[in-house]
Amino acid sequence: MPIATVNPATGETLRTFDALGAEEIERRLALATAAFGQHRTTEFSRRTELMNRAADLLDQDRQDIARTMTTEMGKTIVAARAEAAKCAKAMRWYAEHAERLLADEHPAAADVQDSGASHARVHYRPLGVVLAVMPWNFPLWQVVRFAAPALMAGNVGLLKHASNVPQTALYLEDLFHRAGFPEGCFQTLLVGSGAVENILRDPRVAAATLTGSEPAGRSVAAIAGDEVKKTVLELGGSDPFVVMPSADLERAARTAVTARVQNNGQSCIAAKRFIVHADVYEDFCERFTAGMRELTVGDPMQESTDVGPLASEQGRTDLEALVADALRLGAKARCGARRPEKLDRGWYYEPTVLTEISAGMRIHHEEAFGPVATVYRAAGLDEAVVLANDTPFGLSSNVWTRDEGDVRQFVRDMEAGGIFFNGMTASHPAMPFGGVKRSGYGRELSKHGIQEFCNVTTVWHGAEPDDNS
Ligand code: NAP
Repeated sequence: MPIATVNPATGETLRTFDALGAEEIERRLALATAAFGQHRTTEFSRRTELMNRAADLLDQDRQDIARTMTTEMGKTIVAARAEAAKCAKAMRWYAEHAERLLADEHPAAADVQDSGASHARVHYRPLGVVLAVMPWNFPLWQVVRFAAPALMAGNVGLLKHASNVPQTALYLEDLFHRAGFPEGCFQTLLVGSGAVENILRDPRVAAATLTGSEPAGRSVAAIAGDEVKKTVLELGGSDPFVVMPSADLERAARTAVTARVQNNGQSCIAAKRFIVHADVYEDFCERFTAGMRELTVGDPMQESTDVGPLASEQGRTDLEALVADALRLGAKARCGARRPEKLDRGWYYEPTVLTEISAGMRIHHEEAFGPVATVYRAAGLDEAVVLANDTPFGLSSNVWTRDEGDVRQFVRDMEAGGIFFNGMTASHPAMPFGGVKRSGYGRELSKHGIQEFCNVTTVWHGAEPDDNS
């Protein structure tokens, strides 16, 4: 894949970049190693100062970096500005809380007495150089939710970003550099995915995190496994959105539209499969379809646009193939299932609602990465749970109900890293984010995220002879 900025709204190639050669990669690995030697011993107060400065700079740059993101991958300008603001918020959250999240833990003396310790503690130390392989869909946020905790913990980062967002990738290196982080603390490597293996196998790289598709995750995890290096994987999702009879249907249907088309339908945590209790199925379908029809599809730079283009021509081709397969096998399109007639340039696709889905269709078990919703009818709660879990993925999930019994059963049975009741899934710095099954492993954000790339060190002090007397 060429490293280039290609505007999805027009298909025009705006800038191309040469991939780094072996010599430059070597120079940057050495720089990262040297930076770790320095950064790992800095005080939290200093890291906090630098991270807050990065957040302030990002706030100042918001309009420009939002335009860059929209130009590179097609998200609406409104969504791009919100993404930049969210990143600054997460930076400040880790700036404020990292020291507390990584504070020493002291097991109760009584618990460790029989180990012979006079006292013991758990101490968190950074792992070293962490390679981050990142996707284009939230080109700032995916990186910041790794970088903010990693840098606050004393690690240093090497970013291999998706090849279609090179300017956003270079901006991130520049941002941390301007904020005052020592040179080499956060570097962008403009390389293709073929270069990842050698970098990951380099002994100077301690660990890796990958957000992206399952094949990419499998490849990175296999190499890291071979090298016995820690990984965190944030992979695809096909989140269920369950609507039970006690739900506020109007709110559920409105939120369903946003949950499906956020980021032009290209979000890992977008609700993709809508599982509706038979008692409210028709009512929900009508409201949901009406909401999807009302959306404005068009130029993502316009403030009034709800849904911009897909990020790549291949992405649209893949989505069209999924829809065609479903229609061929008996699915019904309540709206969409085609390109918008008036937009003859760019990779647009109409918001689509498909019903009559069956297990033999590819869309039943594959991720639809675009504004295409599938709706299922469930006879009752048990069937809703079965349908919700009938997927290889397990990222997050949404349930609409006012019934406490429903809540208890979904919390017990839903195979996902998150369950959001009466609202849509969203990431937040204070809450862990990640999946189960083929959605990956490990967690980002919260204390869990910052501790992933730490050496959780046992510090044990033997009792002096006098202590035993
Ligand atoms: P992708 O094709 O897997 O690309 C993601 C990153 O991995 C890019 O930097 C890509 O580089 C690199 N890559 C691809 N194949 C690789 C390989 N064999 N070895 C090493 N690196 C490789 O995914 P995408 O199309 O950009 O993103 C969409 C997917 O990401 C969806 O499945 C979505 O659900 C998932 N996602 C998950 C989360 C989450 O938090 N769980 C968040 C966002 C997105 P190139 O660009 O150079 O190919």
